[in-house]
Amino acid sequence: MTYKRYRRVLLKLSGEALMGTQQFGIEPSRLEQYALEIKNAVENGIQVAVVIGGGNIFRGVQSDNVGIDRVQGDYMGMLATVINAMAIQSALEQMGVYTRLMSGIKMEQICEPYIRRRAIRHLEKNRVVIFAAGLGSPYFTTDSAASLRAIEIGADVVLKGTRVDGVYSADPEKNPEAVRYENISFEQVYQQGLNVMDMTAFTLCRENNLPIIVFDMNTPGNLLKVLQGEAVGTLITEY
Ligand code: UDP
Repeated sequence: MTYKRYRRVLLKLSGEALMGTQQFGIEPSRLEQYALEIKNAVENGIQVAVVIGGGNIFRGVQSDNVGIDRVQGDYMGMLATVINAMAIQSALEQMGVYTRLMSGIKMEQICEPYIRRRAIRHLEKNRVVIFAAGLGSPYFTTDSAASLRAIEIGADVVLKGTRVDGVYSADPEKNPEAVRYENISFEQVYQQGLNVMDMTAFTLCRENNLPIIVFDMNTPGNLLKVLQGEAVGTLITEY
């Protein structure tokens, strides 16, 4: 089995996926599964950086509903990602995987500050680098953090681990005719108005010719399959 296709990857996990079957928070079995997938990737010689969302705890866009200013809400969302990142770090460490947690907002007691060269050095030493607090700026999402950090660290691909197994021509839950793409170009995604990531995040990938793979992270073993180049999920490239 060859893993030569990818040397360094950025794995984006949504906070919502961490909820598993719960309504809120972190489901322990889901956390463990994600950590195991990452461990397997590292043991196969892949350098792994992780960006995790915060939607299972707080989203900035929700802040209006509870009378909280948007910017304040976005910072709350960024702090939510730190909680998830600490949980992933802890799960990985319990499995004997070396990790470093880096934050876009300074929190010296629990995370290193994000310094690009240090992040790359950690990866070269086969430590899993977890990027917390998104980009540290409001009005962005963790998808944008995933795209920008991936470009900065020279990742070969952004792996967007979600609950669905790829990009469809329409919403498969609403339209039974919807088909899943194995490959699709950045241009086609724009033209068909498909929902892969928010536009800021997506455009960053496109402008820097950074491929994206959308895949179902909840099926055990899928991350390794993606890394082996199996047609799991949808690969988005320039063509
Ligand atoms: N956020 C932000 N700037 C960033 C990253 C995240 O303001 O660079 C905030 C934003 O409010 C977002 C929340 O953090 O709603 C949680 O992240 P996201 O919604 O992307 O998480 P996911 O949907 O992946 O769980």
